Amino acid sequence: MTTQLSFDVQLNQQARTVAEREQVLANPGFGQTFTDHMVSIDWTEGRGWHDARLEPYGPLVLDPATSVFHYAQELFEGLKAYRQSNGSIVTFRPYANAARFNQSALRMAMPELPEDTFVESLELLVQTDRDWVPTTEGHSLYLRPFMIATQAGLGVNHPSRNYRYMVIASPAASYFSGGVRPVSVWLSTEYTRAAPGGTGFAKCGGNYAAAFVAQRQAVEEGCDQVVWLDAFEHRWVEEMGGMNLFFVFGDRLVTPALTGTLLPGITRDSILSMAGELGVKAEEGKISIEEWQSACESGELTEVFACGTAAVVTPVGTVKGSDRGWTVGDGTPGPVTLKIREELMGIQFGTRPDTHNWVRKI
Ligand code: PMP
Repeated sequence: MTTQLSFDVQLNQQARTVAEREQVLANPGFGQTFTDHMVSIDWTEGRGWHDARLEPYGPLVLDPATSVFHYAQELFEGLKAYRQSNGSIVTFRPYANAARFNQSALRMAMPELPEDTFVESLELLVQTDRDWVPTTEGHSLYLRPFMIATQAGLGVNHPSRNYRYMVIASPAASYFSGGVRPVSVWLSTEYTRAAPGGTGFAKCGGNYAAAFVAQRQAVEEGCDQVVWLDAFEHRWVEEMGGMNLFFVFGDRLVTPALTGTLLPGITRDSILSMAGELGVKAEEGKISIEEWQSACESGELTEVFACGTAAVVTPVGTVKGSDRGWTVGDGTPGPVTLKIREELMGIQFGTRPDTHNWVRKI
């Protein structure tokens, strides 16, 4: 692939030994250990993107007045490299992440990165650190592209004039320990994630910073994850902590429509596209917590699952709010959830045909 930028490559002379790497890969957890290299590209007003490089993974030195520390002008992406059953390494729809990265950038008044450069940067890092892509079934290499405002200074009247784009990578096991165990969710009515005109659709760090207190409350309430509701009526389901939600009414799937306050998940979009092939009809709609409860009680709503890059497809077993609580189906993973999970992972890991051309070989 050709782009205007060419990457300067400096290999890590202190890369971990095979034994050290194998030790990490035996039990990678999620987002705890990083590979031997990272990618950086700088952007300067008037000059654009420059100094693309691959270099040893390591700490950054930044002035304490750097804008990102104070005003959170930052955004990120998340996708994975998978080792397929035939040994090749692929990513899943990386151009969709490139497009979402640029949508977030526009909202955060940050520069867009050419989509080809985004994908090339991922591929360079994965190629260099290819031995870090796990061979264990279901494991993958999580890729974290991100961009920070790097201008030093506390003025708030204009966005930063300098930025740094980076990519780091981390071997990953299952996001939720315990495999396809159904999660319990807490309906957050005290806190709101996003309102119209805000940054809900952008993958910016501030959305996540503001979510920790609600996630902590969910755990205090004995739940695994928080479910976000709309900002006005605290009634309409939006999404989960780091995943979108699907509601299964027999052979009909419904997911909350993209109103600007939830993240347009790439897994969500993939499920909407492929559901028809699995014999279910998928549509975007509006679900209230009252309907969620009553349709579970009447048996019309048979399954609910969450979906995202990290956790793929995860069933929701029980729901709890400040004044209510119920079980979805019999609380165990349902057949539609399992079928979609198996199909999606099959495409990613190369055991099912990729009829949509979603995987990209590295
Ligand atoms: N919602 C939020 C808030 C998320 O952080 C994520 C993870 N990126 C998702 C949904 C799912 O998005 P994707 O399928 O692209 O991983």
